[in-house]
Amino acid sequence: MKFQPKASHFINGEYVEDTSGAPIDVIYPATGEVIARLHSATPEIVEQALNSAKAAQSAWAAMSGTERGRVLRRAADIMRDRNRDLSIIETHDTGKPLQETLVADATSGADALEYFGGLAASLTGEHIPLAGGDFVYTIREALGVCVGIGAWNYPTQIACWKGAPALACGNTMVFKPSETTPLSALQVAEILIEAGAPKGIYNVIQGYGDVGASLVTDPRVAKVSLTGSVPTGRKVYAAAADGMKHVTMELGGKSPMIVFDDADIENAVSGAILGNFYSSGQVCSNGTRVFVQKGIKDAFLARLSERLATAKIGDPMDEEVNFGPMVSENQMNIALGYIEKGKAEGARLVYGGERVEGDGFYMQPTVFADVTDEMTIAREEIFGPVMSVLDFETEEEVLARANETEFGLAAGVFTNDLTRAHRIVAGFEAGTCYINTYNLAPVEAPFGGSKMSGVGRENSKLAINHFSEMKTVYVSMNDVEAPY
Ligand code: NAD
Repeated sequence: MKFQPKASHFINGEYVEDTSGAPIDVIYPATGEVIARLHSATPEIVEQALNSAKAAQSAWAAMSGTERGRVLRRAADIMRDRNRDLSIIETHDTGKPLQETLVADATSGADALEYFGGLAASLTGEHIPLAGGDFVYTIREALGVCVGIGAWNYPTQIACWKGAPALACGNTMVFKPSETTPLSALQVAEILIEAGAPKGIYNVIQGYGDVGASLVTDPRVAKVSLTGSVPTGRKVYAAAADGMKHVTMELGGKSPMIVFDDADIENAVSGAILGNFYSSGQVCSNGTRVFVQKGIKDAFLARLSERLATAKIGDPMDEEVNFGPMVSENQMNIALGYIEKGKAEGARLVYGGERVEGDGFYMQPTVFADVTDEMTIAREEIFGPVMSVLDFETEEEVLARANETEFGLAAGVFTNDLTRAHRIVAGFEAGTCYINTYNLAPVEAPFGGSKMSGVGRENSKLAINHFSEMKTVYVSMNDVEAPY
């Protein structure tokens, strides 16, 4: 098989196999062909991975930040040098067009390795002067063994967004990719070793939810960082709470995008396309509820349909193609099911709506208009290329409706009124907001959700606080006063 890795798992600097674990078939979404067969981790493999991460941690944390950072920055360089090969693997694992994976996956992973590699040397505590010459100093310490659990939409990026800050702070990691896309995290682990990482600091094991669950409850684990759906997040957060573990939860969304009459229509349409159809709509922060002010609704829909007609759907390895298949047959069927619900509940289909015939898991980019707040397609995360366009009249009304959701991952506004843009953003109940653009997530900026969309932040300097803790040291310069 063309994309068969040397073995399923990567532990203590080496590929490790145990074929007694449940098989995991890797399917190329463009053709339905099996391109690799891996095996889910057995309890022995889980044990090996955790032991390896535990054994490597104190020596890794004892290295200087400069040394740790150097390893991460070397790994970033290797990833960039191999961007094309890594992108080809990612395209086969996920079905995303090569045109996208070449610029958004290994490159974004490399950005995280470079950014946190750069920060590693400057992670410090502080000195706090007190009365009478006493003082406190704080020591920033690693948490220990961290577990990363990934979703299938950005496998390389997720492996690095979790791994890079964890390692920069002196933690070690056991990463479990999604069972749907197990290939690229193995590449990340291999590259780190090539970059000079000590064995055991970044281990990858494969598996279904049960393997993730066994990692979360292990007493050796200090922190769990999950990217996944809200139902999984609830379970993982609850399991982690039992052991009082640190968590980061990057979960789902149903984000609003508001387009006012005065917006630049071309930019708003571009934002709506990026925020609904990039990666065939399989992006957590997508702005899938597009509120368009009544005055420009017809113009917006007309231009959107015109531009969607120019999308090139097809073989994701063809670099001209900009719209690929869904990650799996199951995910395609879920999204097609929502299209049926949209029609049944009275939304007006204005574009797409069909499966594209063939062996691959292709469906058309789909737009519904006249969607109302109560419709299922306006309330539930679809995680596919299905945009809901909703009408609105006033600023006050639209902000209240935009926030009327249990999710709070992202939100965007398109307007040329400067003060209104900031007023709206101040009112959004969401972790990541956009003014006159959508869905950009540079490593320098915090990324994450509020409400049911998550806890904690990835990227930026803030991620450091989620992968380290402060030890407080009180130093007395005076005699100790006791009452008796
Ligand atoms: P999922 O919740 O089904 O699975 C996520 C991961 O959790 C997988 O690796 C899975 O094996 C594992 N898992 C499942 N049950 C588990 C358990 N009980 N204990 C531990 N691990 C368990 O999600 P998915 O279908 O892979 O990904 C799609 C979801 O991820 C969407 O809801 C999407 O919005 C979300 N997502 C969020 C972000 C973000 O940054 N906020 C990014 C990408 C995807």
